[in-house]
Amino acid sequence: MKFQSINFTCKNCGAPLRFSPLNNSLECEFCSTQETIASSTKKIEEYDFQEALRFLKSHSSKEINKEITCNKCGGTFTLTPYSVSSNCPYCNTPAITEFVKEITPKSLLPFTLTQKEAQEKFKKWVGSLWFAPSKLQQFVHGNEKLKGYYLPYWTYDSQTHTNYQGQRGDIYYVQVERTVIVNGREERRTVQEPRIHWTPVSGHVQNFFDDITIGASTTISHTILDNLSPWYTEKLIPFNEKYLSGFESEEYTIGLDNGFEFAKLKMNTIIRQDIKYQIGGDQQQINQMYTQYSNTTYKNVLFPVWTAQFKWNNKVYNYAINAQTGKVTGERPYSWIKIVLLILTIGLFMGGVMYLEEHPNILKSLSK
Ligand SMILES: [Zn+2]
Ligand SMILES: [Zn+2]
Repeated sequence: MKFQSINFTCKNCGAPLRFSPLNNSLECEFCSTQETIASSTKKIEEYDFQEALRFLKSHSSKEINKEITCNKCGGTFTLTPYSVSSNCPYCNTPAITEFVKEITPKSLLPFTLTQKEAQEKFKKWVGSLWFAPSKLQQFVHGNEKLKGYYLPYWTYDSQTHTNYQGQRGDIYYVQVERTVIVNGREERRTVQEPRIHWTPVSGHVQNFFDDITIGASTTISHTILDNLSPWYTEKLIPFNEKYLSGFESEEYTIGLDNGFEFAKLKMNTIIRQDIKYQIGGDQQQINQMYTQYSNTTYKNVLFPVWTAQFKWNNKVYNYAINAQTGKVTGERPYSWIKIVLLILTIGLFMGGVMYLEEHPNILKSLSK
């Protein structure tokens, strides 16, 4: 299906303008003229989760490839159904088109990390990796290309009420008779030994969660998207397509309801910590918990990410850099030689310890 594409042009020379993270404005790649993006006073709003789910039940979007004609060179190209902006494959002019999903982003975090800065972060990161093949460091100092993406995320707020049942464990000590070896001779002695006393407990905890962020893209792995957090959502600004100019951007491919299931897992970790704290004692067991989520709200947002792939020994590795904070995460190759050497070292050490435990006299003869 044919789609309209827009782009912004330089008032001075007519060349395409791209968003520049360095100046937080549009910039002409040809004559460097800058055009500031007017700041908006619109409030960043939260939207009702249940209401949106009801709306989504009666509206479903179809997947259509977007046929775009470049405004500069007239070339046509096709974007995937979830792609919203890209660059013309023939002349590299930015092309921004429309969102087709039922829910569209109302806010975003602009890129603040330039491609060059992201590159530096990545090189440092590779340098800090344990077990990375030494040659990898030389390899990434080459010219691997970073691609800038605005990726869709969901944010969720929720008030939770959790009822739980569990057990509290308190440690106490008992005196027991044990046979011990003193100077090579067996002797009966009274020793202190710990025991745990378990008491059944039940209770209630409540939490308020603000902006749990969940990646809504399937372009890069969920683990990588998740590891890019934290995101500072207080810096969100009202959506403006000028920020997308020159960057790839996407709509959500993980739905609002599925995103909330991931959010529940994150909330659950914190709720469990709170329950354990409330149970107290030396050890805690949670046998059952039931959580109700109320006043749940969401936002659909775009976050800036630098991504790239590199090939190493015929395998593709993906990595990503949070373009707000500079945090790097990704898949990485391991040097099996380095790992095997370490395991062998540990093995030798452990073997030695075990041998000594079985032959305690050696230690004694050593200390004499
Ligand atoms: Zn210009
Ligand atoms: Zn073109």
